[in-house]
Amino acid sequence: MLDPTVRPGIRKKASLRMGRKTVRLNIGQAEELFTLHEELICESPFFRTILQPQRKVVEGDCPVCHEALDATRMELTYCSTSCGGNFHRACIDDWIACAAQGKLATACPLCRQPWADDDSNSDTHRLPTLDADAFDVFLTWLYAGSLPPDLQSRALINAHVLGEHVSAPEFCTSVVSALIGKCVKDGAVPHTSHVWTAYTGTSRGSMLRKAMVVLYLNLSADKFLDVLDDECRLLPDFKWDLLRALAAKRDDAVVGWDEDALKAEVLS
Ligand SMILES: [Zn+2]
Ligand SMILES: [Zn+2]
Repeated sequence: MLDPTVRPGIRKKASLRMGRKTVRLNIGQAEELFTLHEELICESPFFRTILQPQRKVVEGDCPVCHEALDATRMELTYCSTSCGGNFHRACIDDWIACAAQGKLATACPLCRQPWADDDSNSDTHRLPTLDADAFDVFLTWLYAGSLPPDLQSRALINAHVLGEHVSAPEFCTSVVSALIGKCVKDGAVPHTSHVWTAYTGTSRGSMLRKAMVVLYLNLSADKFLDVLDDECRLLPDFKWDLLRALAAKRDDAVVGWDEDALKAEVLS
């Protein structure tokens, strides 16, 4: 179990105010339990749709104080049982205190429905289709702002597949950058079984697919024709992407083991 309150030495990402509410996620077929801050994971639209389905998009000003709703400056909350409107946490705390002084029931400042202060709750959600190891990598990145060190190519590729699934493009960029660094360090491209994972777990236009093509094109000149001929029978999309990239590159020099040049080619 991963509990955000007992992770020593982990910085929280940037200066996002994570709030007080935690959520419990059972990940994968084995239902591995993770406990984490709901506000942090809901940076991802995938998790926001599941965990905060009623919440409106965070934009504009707080309806109480008319200052900007900026989660990097002030903790936010929202009307979770009715209108989904967003507020500063501090403004709602003041609003609740005023209502209590007047011995009034607390109502949402926007819709006037009873305010449900559920910050102490820790709801549990099952997500059996996500990979628990890849989710652990994603969670470390969310809290620490960087990936765990020394991940293998397979772990990085699985993490990227999850990152695309949950719509986390910054995470995916970090993963691809680490994957290129790993390949250059090891002097080897990902095994074709990993290419298979990358292609079956992503869709056309994926940055991970592009990384596979660029790595094979630049780093495996000796194996390139073998891949096209034999090992790649089950990956027609990969073969096609390789040939198309090769045609586009015909007048350009192969960049070889230049990590910065490889990253520029993939991430541009
Ligand atoms: Zn406010
Ligand atoms: Zn409301």
